[in-house]
Amino acid sequence: MSTATGLLTIDLEAVRANWRTVCQQLPQRPAAVIKADAYGLGAEPVGNCLYRSGCREFFFATLEEALAGRSYLPDDAQLYILGGARPGEENECLNARLIPVLYSLEGVDRWAQACRRADVQASSVIKIDTGMTRLGLSLQDWERLRNDPERLRACHPRVVMSHLACADEWAHPMNREQQQCFSRVASQARVLLPGVRCSLANSSGIFLGSDWHFELARPGASLYGFDPHFGRAPKMQPVVRLSLPVLQWRELQGDAAIGYGATARLSTERRLAVVAGGYADGLNRTIGRERGLGYLGETQVSVVGRISMDTTIFDVTHTRPASPPESNWIQVLNDRLTVAEVSHRIGALGYEVLTSLAGRYRRVYRPERSQ
Ligand SMILES: *Cc1c(COP(=O)(O)O)cnc(C)c1O
Repeated sequence: MSTATGLLTIDLEAVRANWRTVCQQLPQRPAAVIKADAYGLGAEPVGNCLYRSGCREFFFATLEEALAGRSYLPDDAQLYILGGARPGEENECLNARLIPVLYSLEGVDRWAQACRRADVQASSVIKIDTGMTRLGLSLQDWERLRNDPERLRACHPRVVMSHLACADEWAHPMNREQQQCFSRVASQARVLLPGVRCSLANSSGIFLGSDWHFELARPGASLYGFDPHFGRAPKMQPVVRLSLPVLQWRELQGDAAIGYGATARLSTERRLAVVAGGYADGLNRTIGRERGLGYLGETQVSVVGRISMDTTIFDVTHTRPASPPESNWIQVLNDRLTVAEVSHRIGALGYEVLTSLAGRYRRVYRPERSQ
C-alpha cells in the first residue's frame, strides 16, 4: 500500500476545457500563469497540457521556476519571469531565453546593459504600477522613460503590463480606474514601441469585460478550475480531487473527548473515521480547521476536533459501515466540494486552497483526451 497521506487527482482534460473557455472570452490567445508549480498542481504536466492545447506563452514567478520550465516545455514556448531578473541573473536569463518582467528604472537599465554586453536584443516586459503598489514602475518613472525613448527601447520591451488589485470584486471602482490608467499607458507605449502588446487581465480581469482584455491576458486560477467571480463568470471545470484514506473506524459508546485539546466532546453513540492527512499536508488551509467537510461515498461528513499533523477525524455516524477501513476514502475536494466552494465557505482564497495542496499526496494525472 502507498505510504502517501492522500490521493490528489489532477484532471488535465478539465484544464484543457478551462483553457478553451478562457480563450473563447478573448480576441487573442492568452498566456498561462504556471507559477508556484502551477498553483501546486504540477507545472510540468499542467504546462505541457496547456502547450498541447495551444498555449505558447507561460508566466513563472522566479528564475528557478522558469529555468525548470525551459527544460520540460518545447523550445518555442516563451517563458516570462514575473519576479524579473535580479542583479547577477541577467546572463542566465539570456542563455535560457527567458523574458524578465522589469519593474524599476534600475532593472530596465540593467537589462539594457546585459543585452548590450551580450550583443543581443533580448525581449523584456515592462510592468507599470497602475494602483496596486506592488511591483511596477511608478507613473513618474514611466514618464521619464517616455521622455527618453532610447533608454526605453534599449531594454527591448515586447509587452507592457500592469496588474489589477480588485478584479475579483466585480463592482469595485478600482477596476475601472486601473483600466483607464492602463489605457493611457498603452496608447503611449504603442506610439513609442511599434508592435508592443499590452497586458492587464488576470483570470478575474478577463471576466470584467472586453475593456480589460488588451492583447495578452494572463489567466492562472481559471485554468485550475476556480470560478473567479463565484457564479458570475462562465463555469470552470473542477480540476482537483483530494481523497484521504481511512486508517481506522472508531465506534463511540458514550462520552468521549476528540483529538488534541479535547476541543470536541461527543456524548451519544457515534462512529468516527480517522483519516491520513493533517496540517502537515496543508489541510488546515485546504479544508479549514474545524469546519472541514468531506464525502464518504455519497454522504457528507464533517471534521470533529482539531486537525492533527498527520491525521484528521471525521464524524461518519450517518454512513453505512463498510469494513475494512483501508478500502475507504473521504473526499475533501471533488466536484461537489470544489475549490471555489470550499474557499468561499472557510473564508480563504481559492489560491490559498490550491497552493496548500503541496503535502505528502500521491499525484495522479488524468490525461486529456486526444484531439
Ligand atoms: C498570479 C498572477 C496572475 C494570474 O492571476 P490569476 O488570478 O490566477 O488568474 C497574473 N498576473 C500576475 C502579475 C500575477 O502575479
